[in-house]
Amino acid sequence: MLARLARLFGRGRSAQADFTVSSGGPAGDADGGALIRLRGVDRAFGRGVSRNIALQGVDLEIERGEFIGVDGPSGSGKTTLLSILGLLDTPTAGSYLLNGRAVEEMPASQRARTRNREIGFIFQSFNLIGDMTAFENVDLPLSYLGLPGGERRDRVTEALERVGMAAKAGSYPSQLSGGHQQRVAVARAVVGGPQILLADEPTGNLNSDQASVVIQMLAELHEAGSTICLVTHDPRWREVTRRTVHLFDGRVVEPAAGAAEPVS
Ligand code: ADP
Ligand code: MG
Repeated sequence: MLARLARLFGRGRSAQADFTVSSGGPAGDADGGALIRLRGVDRAFGRGVSRNIALQGVDLEIERGEFIGVDGPSGSGKTTLLSILGLLDTPTAGSYLLNGRAVEEMPASQRARTRNREIGFIFQSFNLIGDMTAFENVDLPLSYLGLPGGERRDRVTEALERVGMAAKAGSYPSQLSGGHQQRVAVARAVVGGPQILLADEPTGNLNSDQASVVIQMLAELHEAGSTICLVTHDPRWREVTRRTVHLFDGRVVEPAAGAAEPVS
């Protein structure tokens, strides 16, 4: 797999520091368990007749360093699943072990810290902050890492250059096209070198050249050790995702007949 990525995209950066979520916690993944382990996860919205079950009985394990794809029809729970994995949302039932720690037992401050330091998001709807420039949006995740100002500026500039947006560093989101906003969002997601990257249809608004840049950046992050969970329908990702989880009506299902897994 790595050889294949290297061939496709060239070599990535060197290995990153170990995942730090378990520091101060119990045995981490000393049981040899997965980095991410969901057991019987439900997520329901609303009550009574308006109750909407977005996820139902989801069991999912993601190993450290895996690059998995998630697909399924609109409304099948993909975004809800990513929100839970990224500690933006909590299950209404079931358990989530992240690096051996029960997320539901973490204090809010630790959840926020883990989210800010270890998890990068690329949202379907960009979620750039409107009154911040492209540069400031990309810089934001670095504010949690305690880096010196000069290094921060260099990292932001490099991330913007890699997505071809350095010339627009001073632009506000409203001055950028959807494709350009998504490229800035990708730079923001990867600038801190997150250990877990969660991406929700990140190439949905991009032309094929722009999409190639995004695919390459994620592949390089993966090669450098990040664990990536990607929602996509773009068949080109099959080159880099080894495994795809299929959702239907909030449940993990077997792939439809004829939709065989790619050979990797
Ligand atoms: P997908 O990303 O696969 O299109 P979502 O995870 O966005 O699916 O949504 C799954 C289901 O949960 C849908 O029926 C959706 O309407 C519902 N849902 C998602 N978020 C909310 C919310 N905040 N409030 C109520 N229902 C929601
Ligand atoms: Mg969605």
